[in-house]
Amino acid sequence: MGRACGRLAAARPLGGRGMTRGSDTGRLARRELLAMPDYLAHERSQARRLAIGAAWLVLLALSLLQLLEYLLGHDGDRVGPWLLHAVWRLPALLTAVWVLVLAAKRPEGDWPRPLSLLLGFWVMIAAWGLTALHLGGHEVQMHEALQRLVITTVAVSVLAVRGARDLLPICLPGIVLGGVLLWSLDPGPARALAWATHPLLATVVAAVIAELLFRGNAQAFLANRQIRESALTDSLTGLPNRRAVDDALRAAHARVDRHGGHYAVVMADLDHFKRVNDTWGHAVGDEVLCELGRRLRAELRANDLAGRWGGEEFLILLQDVDADAAWRAAEKLRVRIGGELFVTSAGELPVTVSLGVALSRGAPRPEDVVNRADEALYEAKRGGRNRTAVR
Ligand code: GH3
Ligand code: MG
Ligand code: MG
Repeated sequence: MGRACGRLAAARPLGGRGMTRGSDTGRLARRELLAMPDYLAHERSQARRLAIGAAWLVLLALSLLQLLEYLLGHDGDRVGPWLLHAVWRLPALLTAVWVLVLAAKRPEGDWPRPLSLLLGFWVMIAAWGLTALHLGGHEVQMHEALQRLVITTVAVSVLAVRGARDLLPICLPGIVLGGVLLWSLDPGPARALAWATHPLLATVVAAVIAELLFRGNAQAFLANRQIRESALTDSLTGLPNRRAVDDALRAAHARVDRHGGHYAVVMADLDHFKRVNDTWGHAVGDEVLCELGRRLRAELRANDLAGRWGGEEFLILLQDVDADAAWRAAEKLRVRIGGELFVTSAGELPVTVSLGVALSRGAPRPEDVVNRADEALYEAKRGGRNRTAVR
């Protein structure tokens, strides 16, 4: 079977080398991935979901902690520290509210990743700030604060949608702030090291989690994309298959309905193709279909589309054309196909096509245009083949 033609063409849309291998989110592949508009859209929707979840969590957890600290505070002066905690937590709370407002008002905006980073940043500033307040103080409170800092550090890793590098703006400022506050306490090198070890280890763990999540997510995206693409690609010719052509037809029809203008459907059918199969065998027939696919792709404008409609029939969708331009495009294809022998493993073969052209011309459904193109094609066949007819 002439499968190589299809496999080659189907591999191309995946976006270059290394994308499907284990190390596929390495240096170059990551850049390629981030240049893909559909990956960015996927990232945006994922970041939006994460930001909304994190915002609710921040609102609930910080408010609850703030409330508990008020109720359970046991010092004489409990309002002072309570207020200080509230000040450290306020930016994170406000950012969480901002996220939820944007999610409601601008669900499609570009805000999710930047605001996820900002939310993570303020959460970590609050966590380090509050921890530093307790360092050197009451032993139990100090341990609780350190534990909370470790848990928070690991938790924010989910906000780093681009992996470990996104953790830098989230975690580094907090670490610097914690370091400065720690230094101002001057606990001596041994105690400073003891206090800093767990938070710093937690940051490393968070970086590993963020990177693994990013890579896993990127791989799942690419695998999904490949499945989606192969579901829309003809495996022999690498051209869009009937389902993809159907989708494109419907989209073109809807566009013309909305904005006016015309599209044209060209139905192309190989002439006496059965003879090729009967004389040279099915494999050579497949080679001819592959080469035809290549020539169709090479001849078309960027926003036109050629797909395999079935067997040895191909449908070409031409956007924004009038009857004359559609006929000229079809004739150009016919000449390009019939004008040059097809090189196959059985030698050079003459191949011709007949084409039927139909203009949308206010047809109520795309099927009506396809039917007219079909009628025109049979007219071309009846007229002697290797010709174009218009309906
Ligand atoms: P016409 O000029 O009237 O179109 O004649 P034809 O022989 O091309 O038309 P017909 O419908 O009789 O034959 C179509 C042939 O296309 C029959 C079928 O075996 C062949 N065909 C359809 N799909 C494939 C394919 O995937 N590979 C190969 N090799 N042949 C195919
Ligand atoms: Mg046919
Ligand atoms: Mg035929």
